[in-house]
Amino acid sequence: MKKDGTRKTIRASIGSLGVLGLRNIKLPAPPTTLYLMLGEKCMFDCAYCPQARTSHGSTNFLSRVIWPKTDWGLLKNAVLNAPKIVKRICFQVVSSKGYVEEALFFVQDLSKTLSESRESSTNARVLPISVSIRLSDTNDVKRLFDAGAERIGLAMDVVSRNNYTSIRGGDFDRDFRFILSAGERFKGRITTHIIVGMGETDEELFNAFSEFYKRDITVGLFAFTPIKGTRMENAKRPLLNRYRKVQFMRYLFSMNKEFVPHFDENGKLVSVEGKGVGSIVKSSAIYVTSGCPNCNRPYYNEEPLGPMFNYPFIPDETERIVNEFTERVRHNEVVFKE
Ligand code: SF4
Repeated sequence: MKKDGTRKTIRASIGSLGVLGLRNIKLPAPPTTLYLMLGEKCMFDCAYCPQARTSHGSTNFLSRVIWPKTDWGLLKNAVLNAPKIVKRICFQVVSSKGYVEEALFFVQDLSKTLSESRESSTNARVLPISVSIRLSDTNDVKRLFDAGAERIGLAMDVVSRNNYTSIRGGDFDRDFRFILSAGERFKGRITTHIIVGMGETDEELFNAFSEFYKRDITVGLFAFTPIKGTRMENAKRPLLNRYRKVQFMRYLFSMNKEFVPHFDENGKLVSVEGKGVGSIVKSSAIYVTSGCPNCNRPYYNEEPLGPMFNYPFIPDETERIVNEFTERVRHNEVVFKE
């Protein structure tokens, strides 16, 4: 209950409500993470986001997912009885007035509820909490960890140095350095998000991956999705074949695999060389949603009928995927199609 007597509410993705049994909907791929959203109408103005200050889109949306409002007490109870498929909870925090304190309240409250339930029942499950939030002070990151978060997501989103300020606002170097410093201070507990299709080159993606993975920062990859009412509503999505190359490259970093990328004069990735890259490219896990463990974000970027940029489960069509975007696969070399 809030001070004025009204009950606290929170938004949850429609898929999360479905998996918790709070909405009767068909789920072609159930979420393995519960996605909760705090705040609305952001103080920032990212050109691609329906929550942005000047967006005319519905605040019911984040990416292409709908987020109905739900009573917090009801939702907490449902979380305690979440089915086994649910392995994580993620708060997606919109930067509205007082958002850090708001996030701290919800993380602490949920964490307390989860630990009380563990104390009273040995069968209660441990559900780690992630918080995806925009911060500029590593002490706030610490406060969220102290409140009970297991991982913090600090989104870079745009890795194009030229387009960063116009698309996202802020300063590329300052924001990039901040995420790196959080990675150094909180080893293995930071995730970042990168959106492919923001005017960046493959080489810029390679350089960003390299800096992030060097500091043990996990990268959650997204494909740009135009949303009605946003400044980028008419911009194009990245080509699927290009996205596949980027997924492959990210996977090589995540596996700590040494490889040499070859770029053309425009920074486009044409091939990679490295021991065993030809068999690695056939790993189905490359094409699955990346980020915090068990974050599968079903249909954030895609219609259920496809094309699938991120598979929310292990795809059973990996051979077809690989044939579509590679020109030549040898043991130590993978050459990509145009
Ligand atoms: S990768 Fe997934 S769980 Fe982690 S912060 Fe991002 S959306 Fe949340």
